[in-house]
Amino acid sequence: MIVRQKVPRLGLILPAYNEEEVLKTTLTKLKIIRSEMIKKGSIQPDSFIMIVDDGSKDRTWALINEYESEADQIIGVKLSRNFGHQPALLAGMSEASKMADAMITLDADLQDNPEIIEQMVNKYNQGYEIVYAVRSSRKTDTWFKRNTALAFYKIAGWLGVDLVPNHADFRLMSRTSVKALMKMPERNVFLRAMVPLLGYPSAEVTYERGTRQAGSTKYPLKKMLTFAVDGITSFSVKPIRFLFDLGVLIVGIAGVEIIYTLIAKMLGHAQAGWSSLMVSIWLLGGINLMAIGVVGIYIGKIFTEVKQRPRFQIENVTGEKTPGPVSDVSTYKKASSE
Ligand code: UDP
Ligand code: MG
Repeated sequence: MIVRQKVPRLGLILPAYNEEEVLKTTLTKLKIIRSEMIKKGSIQPDSFIMIVDDGSKDRTWALINEYESEADQIIGVKLSRNFGHQPALLAGMSEASKMADAMITLDADLQDNPEIIEQMVNKYNQGYEIVYAVRSSRKTDTWFKRNTALAFYKIAGWLGVDLVPNHADFRLMSRTSVKALMKMPERNVFLRAMVPLLGYPSAEVTYERGTRQAGSTKYPLKKMLTFAVDGITSFSVKPIRFLFDLGVLIVGIAGVEIIYTLIAKMLGHAQAGWSSLMVSIWLLGGINLMAIGVVGIYIGKIFTEVKQRPRFQIENVTGEKTPGPVSDVSTYKKASSE
């Protein structure tokens, strides 16, 4: 592993949708954490807090402007309308990566415990490009949320979607990894599946997720379900494949059925018309499903093509003789252990 020489300029990114009730509490807390870390020398003094207003209809933006003028290094980004949590995070990272070496995304309601920010930065300094904050338990969740979340991770796993269990959108990303993420041009943003796809060295830090400090959830059940279904279908074409396989299975059953009905007919056990009816139902049903599956498989290919995701991602190049433009690589130093 390569350790970093330079103390990072850190950007904390908070998406906020109608968060007027909680913003003050959150910022007060984060400002303290930021200055403590600056004092200790673990982040640069120009490390900043960025709030992305995701088309709020309340006083969120007005408040951001007030805080902005009161304190240094509070940056407001306003989206033109409500785009949703994931696009808001993406917008924040895209802006922050112009300035920050490392950035951490966390919810505006302080549910993501900011006390572990320092540990996350430590992992970054050890050379990790991505640090996932992982919940140690789901004690603070309702029974319903806990179990639906569990089911979601199970199903996603079966379908081959690579997710870090019990990790949501509380994570640190280096500028290098954010730049790579920005090359994924898809419209259906589901960060917790996109980030592991980048393949950069990553670490985990565990935390206890708290309860919302003020205000109410901006993720009602309907939004949560849409998010889950969108997430899975954006990363897996296995449901289509499943249709095809089911079609094959039913055609197989029809084969057995044909033999069975023929024997029954020959032995004289069958009612007139029964054999042909049974065989047609099963055979045609199976062929139909298989045909849909075949069409689906092609659509699945189109689906992955239109995303135009980068086909590879180079992490590092060594041995370059002529110095290129200033890049993150220059902030690395080989660890003495290697
Ligand atoms: N959020 C957002 N846009 C939305 C919905 C939510 O930016 O359309 C933000 C919200 O302000 C918060 C974070 O996403 O900072 C997580 O939302 P919330 O805490 O309401 O979700 P929960 O924790 O209840 O799942
Ligand atoms: Mg919350």
